[in-house]
Amino acid sequence: MGRCAAPTEVYPAMNLTVVGCSGSFPSADSACSSYLLEADGFRLLIDMGNGALGELQRHVGLYDLDAVLLSHLHADHCIDMCGYFVARYYRHDGGPASAIPVYGPTGTERRLSIAYGDVPDEKCMSEVFDFRTLRPSSFRVGPFQVTADQVSHPVEAYGFRIECDGRVLAYSGDTGPCEPLVGLARGADLFLCEASFTLGKEDIPELHLNGREAGEAAAAAGVDRLVLTHIPPWTNPAVNLRDAQAAFPGPVELAKAGAVYEL
Ligand SMILES: [Zn+2]
Ligand SMILES: [Zn+2]
Repeated sequence: MGRCAAPTEVYPAMNLTVVGCSGSFPSADSACSSYLLEADGFRLLIDMGNGALGELQRHVGLYDLDAVLLSHLHADHCIDMCGYFVARYYRHDGGPASAIPVYGPTGTERRLSIAYGDVPDEKCMSEVFDFRTLRPSSFRVGPFQVTADQVSHPVEAYGFRIECDGRVLAYSGDTGPCEPLVGLARGADLFLCEASFTLGKEDIPELHLNGREAGEAAAAAGVDRLVLTHIPPWTNPAVNLRDAQAAFPGPVELAKAGAVYEL
């Protein structure tokens, strides 16, 4: 903790691992949204969608997470928290694991308890998860300064700007085009942005971005690098990559399960 690195130093301030990046439902190649961000030995998991808990164990031990950040309560971003509750609450060795901070939208504890369906009592999830309600705000999580802002989606949903040692990761969560998204991503070193829709095919307002809209947001925010994520199995990623590249002059790539980015 407390390392004072200048942004120009060669070692990374943050390591980002793509645990899962499939949109809406898992693909044959990837679990749903989940990203592991590490700095100074602190491990923050951003979202835990379907299949993510299994994949996560390729990268860290079950009990190595220090905090969880949930962008919203659609199943493809949070449902594996039910399995993770089992792993922590019924831990074989040493009894229940201690509570780690879990940041989520209004009603996260209740939603996860209902989804689990058979909790021994209505408060037991809070024995292993210290639930904290997100608001548009900036707050500290371990070595990270996290800024959350509400984005454009049918449910209460947040995008995040996460800063550490002068480096910046921005994550869209699920969103249609909106100003807060550009604000969060302003000047980011890496912008992890959803591109669920196909340009010209799906046109539903305030739900998701297509490749071009992701590229436009990246260009408006002046980010260094754009990584497209949350592409559902029924969407052609090559089309979205091309559309994003047409709108954003910097480097663009597709997120892949297991990919690691040093920031
Ligand atoms: Zn989603
Ligand atoms: Zn969603």
